[in-house]
Amino acid sequence: MSDKNSEEENEETQTKRERLLDLIKKIAIKKPVKIIKVPEGLRGFGQVTALQSICIGCHKCEEVCKLGAPLIENKFDLPSLFEDSTKDVKAENRRLLIDFIKKIAVKKPVEAIPLPSPLRGFGSLCVAIKKCITCGDCEETCPEKVIEIKPIFDLSLIFQE
Ligand code: SF4
Ligand code: SF4
Repeated sequence: MSDKNSEEENEETQTKRERLLDLIKKIAIKKPVKIIKVPEGLRGFGQVTALQSICIGCHKCEEVCKLGAPLIENKFDLPSLFEDSTKDVKAENRRLLIDFIKKIAVKKPVEAIPLPSPLRGFGSLCVAIKKCITCGDCEETCPEKVIEIKPIFDLSLIFQE
């Protein structure tokens, strides 16, 4: 398939998807709080999740996505670092830094902190749920195996975008 055809197909899928999600927003009686399991066989829905402590902020996921869904935000997601285990952090320096932050923290942080710009090797992946069709390209491309696409859908997120 030519690049032009695949671009058109992506745009069409995207428009259908945005319309569907806008419709869900309109008909919702109240903002949903539950995370739902995506029914088996329903393509294009799911959630890109990331182990933030391993993300090296290389931006490859942003570059590969044809729909512009991922964004590496210039922040250090401290609450996630406290939830994730550091056992999968390959870079020793990084693992030691995270473990050190955990040790010296008086209490668990509740929000992400902005990073001095630009700080190589750090960043937080944020994926626009309205745009992402869970094609898996970012998951395949991520050199650190940070990304996992899970068969869940947090409807509350479409009310934040
Ligand atoms: S999620 Fe993966 S591909 Fe994206 S910036 Fe982080 S390490 Fe790079
Ligand atoms: S799964 Fe596909 S559409 Fe979603 S963020 Fe990754 S590359 Fe983009």
